[in-house]
Amino acid sequence: MRRFLTERPVPQARCELCGAVVAEDSHRHLVDTDKRALACACVSCALLFERPGAAGGRFRAVPDRYLADPDHRLDDSAWDVLQIPVGVAFFFRNAALNRLVALYPSPAGATESELEPSAWQTVLGNSRLAALLQPDVEALLLRRTQGGGRPECYLVPIDICYELVGRMRLLWQGFDGGAEARADLEAFFEQVGRRARTVQGEGRP
Ligand SMILES: [Zn+2]
Ligand SMILES: [Zn+2]
Repeated sequence: MRRFLTERPVPQARCELCGAVVAEDSHRHLVDTDKRALACACVSCALLFERPGAAGGRFRAVPDRYLADPDHRLDDSAWDVLQIPVGVAFFFRNAALNRLVALYPSPAGATESELEPSAWQTVLGNSRLAALLQPDVEALLLRRTQGGGRPECYLVPIDICYELVGRMRLLWQGFDGGAEARADLEAFFEQVGRRARTVQGEGRP
């Protein structure tokens, strides 16, 4: 029995373009802009789609930069303007539809809503992170902190946002998510905070 369990083959993640095996928990992704889906990718395929000439095609490589802008001040009124009912949300620009989209976990699963350009302008219009944000492949991740702290804002790869939504779908309970979801969220933001560089002098990759 023990032998059987230990020798069970581990399911392997593969690059969806060339079929190469990739590390299960850390590999690159491409956004399939036709299907609005993420595709797992190996390093070579991701690099291929990062080349400037590749822009505008169906697949776009998700960058792996994390940025923070300590100079940009958000306050709690941002939440009312953006009309987000929960404490965490991410925002991205859908290039094909030319729309700003908000996505957040909720009791009913991930909720997506279109954002009024004026709301975006009010809250994020003058932020350097919003100016650097690449459509479809990057998102602004916002979290309202408990106890009156300033909301946090990061520019992150869009694949980690979908990962977060997937995890929240499994863990979320009741209206505020419950203890397990909150602990998971805490760990997630700690990781993002560790990876994020301050935005100074950052250009488009
Ligand atoms: Zn590949
Ligand atoms: Zn993947």
